[in-house]
Order: sequence, then structure tokens, then C-alpha cells
Amino acid sequence: MSHFHRMDATLFCEGVALDALAATHGTPLYVYSRGEIEQAYSAYRAALAHHDHLICYAVKANSNLAVLDVLARLGAGFDIVSIGELERVLAAGGNPEKVVFSGVCKTREDMRRALQAGIHCFNVESEAELDMLAVVAEESNLVAPISLRVNPDVDARTHPYIATGLKDNKFGIAIGTALSLYRKAAALPGIQPIGIDCHIGSQILNIEPFSEAVAHLVRLVDQLGESGIELKHIDLGGGLGVSYEGETVPAIGDYISALTGPLEAHNLTLILEPGRSIVANAGVLLTRVEYLKPTTHKNFALVDAAMNDLLRPALYGAWQDIVPVTASGNITRCWDIVGPVCETGDFLGKSRDLALRSGDILAVMGAGAYGFAMASNYNSRPRPAEVLIDGDTTHIVRARESLETLWAGESTISGASL
Ligand SMILES: *Cc1c(COP(=O)(O)O)cnc(C)c1O
Repeated sequence: MSHFHRMDATLFCEGVALDALAATHGTPLYVYSRGEIEQAYSAYRAALAHHDHLICYAVKANSNLAVLDVLARLGAGFDIVSIGELERVLAAGGNPEKVVFSGVCKTREDMRRALQAGIHCFNVESEAELDMLAVVAEESNLVAPISLRVNPDVDARTHPYIATGLKDNKFGIAIGTALSLYRKAAALPGIQPIGIDCHIGSQILNIEPFSEAVAHLVRLVDQLGESGIELKHIDLGGGLGVSYEGETVPAIGDYISALTGPLEAHNLTLILEPGRSIVANAGVLLTRVEYLKPTTHKNFALVDAAMNDLLRPALYGAWQDIVPVTASGNITRCWDIVGPVCETGDFLGKSRDLALRSGDILAVMGAGAYGFAMASNYNSRPRPAEVLIDGDTTHIVRARESLETLWAGESTISGASL
């Protein structure tokens, strides 16, 4: 059941009417549902009930402290890709012992801080990174628990920008060299191999690529066992897709069975790193129609949200549903929904049949993942506010940026800062 629903033709998030919310807090506005986040997380937990597991939410999908707080209260772990994300997790009350650290280019400082915080595992992406981590761990008098991120050369059949498990991609260690690198790792002081991981991409709508990846990794786990290297966990990353445009999404139970089936004969904790599938449908972006610009060739609806607020349509040509928060009763026309940024790529949706009037509030659906997280200040636009709805309660979880924050930290060449 979605926590976004209509009552008397008005769109609600849980118990809160979105037209009133936009009037109170302004637009553009990100709105998240606590109930929807909890529902998505609980579906993973229920499907994994019979297997030793750790769900590490991928912080990059939506890193708002309130979102992390909601998940930390449910006992979630976290998958991070930067020290900024680690500090967010800690600030939100997350447990560092449930943190796995991914990312292709961790610096020494990143390593030092994560070691000191006592994270669960470093997901190592290259031999050079392994060598550096060994040095930093020894300097810190600590032992770094590691997993090698293996690139299984599997086609996730998704958008090329978010396919990460092919040998052409920058991610991970070629599966053919992983065995010898594990042997090296096991012999390095300061390094303790505890797991193996992969992450083959995002917005994946077929189970087969996951099945292929787990088969490759399990074969490697067996070979490692024969070499006397016993691992404690297998981390199969994130990547499960969501329905943006009515796509059929694998049932979570089927997805989890495909992963746990091949692990039955092994005593391995299963770690997953879901991002999108936890938060995408828990968020919408509210935007106001400022002007209508019908032309003989095309109709443009100019709205107050832009590619700097929600990049996915411009970056990937991603399709997200756009719906009126209340019905305006105007005649239906075909509109391109475009923002104020000076780029032709600045659109939220194209060729949408909608009945619009200026002043209408629209909701861009499925905006909870890779929405605010990818927002920028391009065109000197303050980033939107974010609110989290919990029943009838609205928590303002990020204030709208002020104009002054746009140049905070800048100065003119005479040293004057305004
Ligand atoms: C982005 C990412 C994830 C999350 O992917 P989703 O498609 O959002 O589930 C998990 N693990 C790693 C290493 C990632 O880079």
C-alpha cells in the first residue's frame, strides 16, 4: 500500500494534504513518508528472516539525517561511499559496527577515520587501495576488516551510466585476479579478509543478473575455502529496481530467494546494500506551475523546480510520473514540464497529458531516491526544503537554503565577503 493516496481528489502523504503543505512550506519541496520507508525496509527484513543478514541502506540514495534516523531506529546498517556519509550516519545515531565502506577512491584520511570509528568492513576496489589500507591500519595500530569488491562481468541490463558490474566499468577487482589478491590480503599485517562483495548496478528489473553474480561469487568463496581463507559474509550490493512507469518489479521474496538459494550450503551472513528500493517511492517533489506557454508546435509548462533540484530526467532521460496535487478542471493538453534553468536538457517530463492552470501544484512521483541527493546550486538556485511526514505530523528535516548560503565561504579578490 502506498502512503501517497487521494482523498476528495487531493493528493495526501499519510495524513497530510500536499496542497496545504506546499502553501505552508513553499515549492519546490521534497516530501518523504516515514511509513513508506519503514514498509520498504520491513519487506527486506521479512524476506530475509530465515537467513543471517545485515541490511546496509545505501546512504547515497537519500542521505537526509531524518531518513537515516528512521532506518537506524529499525536497526539498519549503512553502506557509505565517503567520509561525509559516515559522519552523517554517526550524526543520525547509526551504529558504526554496521557500516560497510564502498567507493573506488578512498583516501588515506577516509581510511584513518573509518578505522577509528570501527566500521564493519572496507569494500576494497583495487590492489593499490589494499596496499594503502594496510599501511594506514598499521600506522593506526588497528586491523582493517576487508572484503574485496569483485567485478563479476555481469550485464545488469540497465542504463549504461548505472551499470557497474561489467569489466569495462571502473568498479571492483576482475574476478580472475581476486583469488591471488585474497591470498596477498590474508598475509598482510593490518588486514583481515572477512567477506566478499559485488554491486552490479542500479534500477535492475530482472533477477537473472543477480543470480549470475551470486553464482560467480559463491564459486570464488569455495576456491578461497580450499586455500584456507574462510569468509564470514557475502555482500551482494544493492540495485533492485522500482516501478517508475509501470515496469514489473521482481517480488522481493523472489529476489531474496535467488540470492539465498545458492548460499544454503554455506555459513555466510548475507549483506545487502539497497538504496533506491528503500526510498524511491517514499518521496515526491512538489513544484508549482508558474507559467503556461502553449505554442503552435509544443506546449510548455514552466514550473519552479528544475534539473538542479531533480537531475534524473536530464541525466538519464529518466521517466517519473507527474500528477496534479488537486484537479484544476482545465482542459487536458499535452505538455512538456520544464524548469527555469538555462539548459534545453532542463525538463522534468515530456509529452504529459495534463489539465493545467498556472498556480497548480504538481507532484513528481518516485523522487525519494537520487532526488535531493543529486541536487546542486546550478544557476545560483537555493536547494529545496525537505519535510518528512509521520502520520499527521510534518517534520521540517532540511530548511530551504537561503540566498546568502549560496556564496557562504566565497570572497571577492579584495577579501570582502558580503
Ligand atoms: C549505489 C550503490 C548501492 C545502492 O544501489 P541502489 O540501486 O540504490 O539499490 C549499493 N552499493 C553500492 C556499492 C553502490 O554504489
